[in-house]
Amino acid sequence: MTNRIYAQNKNILLGVIIASAVISIVIPAYAIAILGTVKDTSNNGLPDPKITAERVGEYNFARGSSGTPAGTYSVPVSSTNTYTVDAMKTSYAHARKINVAGGSTNQDFNLATRPSLRTVNVYISADEEYRSAHSTNWVTDATAKLKSSEGWWKEEHGIQFNVVGNSGTSWNSPAGASCSALTTDLISDVWHSPYPSGTFVFAVSGQSIAEVGCATNTSGTSHDHPTVVVTDNFAEADRLTMHEITHIYDYDHQCVTGWYDIMETANPSCGPGTGGDTALRIKNWKPAGDDVIEANRLWY
Ligand SMILES: [Zn+2]
Repeated sequence: MTNRIYAQNKNILLGVIIASAVISIVIPAYAIAILGTVKDTSNNGLPDPKITAERVGEYNFARGSSGTPAGTYSVPVSSTNTYTVDAMKTSYAHARKINVAGGSTNQDFNLATRPSLRTVNVYISADEEYRSAHSTNWVTDATAKLKSSEGWWKEEHGIQFNVVGNSGTSWNSPAGASCSALTTDLISDVWHSPYPSGTFVFAVSGQSIAEVGCATNTSGTSHDHPTVVVTDNFAEADRLTMHEITHIYDYDHQCVTGWYDIMETANPSCGPGTGGDTALRIKNWKPAGDDVIEANRLWY
């Protein structure tokens, strides 16, 4: 099943298209790798880093050693063409090498320490359908949904989410509404005066609608007070949450063929043949998306 949601009109919302297929990276058998070590700035190996190697039509992922020596990695790739290689670890800055040929060795990184994790304050809301279904646990359960993708945010971009409040029983959503209409209603019901600048609202609807999530389009405009709305009827909560929160960092849907990242969609405006192969989907950002999030990392 594919849910097709496209950019909404003047309501400045972007939807999400997410298929329910199992996430996997299907790649040919590899005999080539890129090798190196991820270290800190004192040349000490960093245990368990994440490394990605990407070129057009191909995406590869590996973890470096968590043992001794720490941080050594081997990313399998399909060719001796050149790759963009990224290295990441929580509490360290995201680092990149470009034009790394498949088969290269000694591709070492020295990751700088981030001053701290960026803590983003979030207000939780849920409509009456969700509150009823989750009873007294609704705040806990909605928070768990928010946190479901936090591991990616922390490890790759040094961002974590901190729930600072909720809307209580204020949100009562109209039945059968689109996600954009739910958002309009959410703002009307619970957002009479804006939450503090630099925060966002994460709202969960218990309604079953085709448009499983949407978020404020922050492209080229103020990023104050965005909203993220997700429904409770989508199995991959982490993927959905990661996708929608990514929107408010202004990394939007991508038009691609072949493998695709967390923001790829089967958007007809991209033209025939785009939208990717669900078997090639990855639960991650491409380097281009990483760059946008890093650039906008301090928005919230
Ligand atoms: Zn979207």
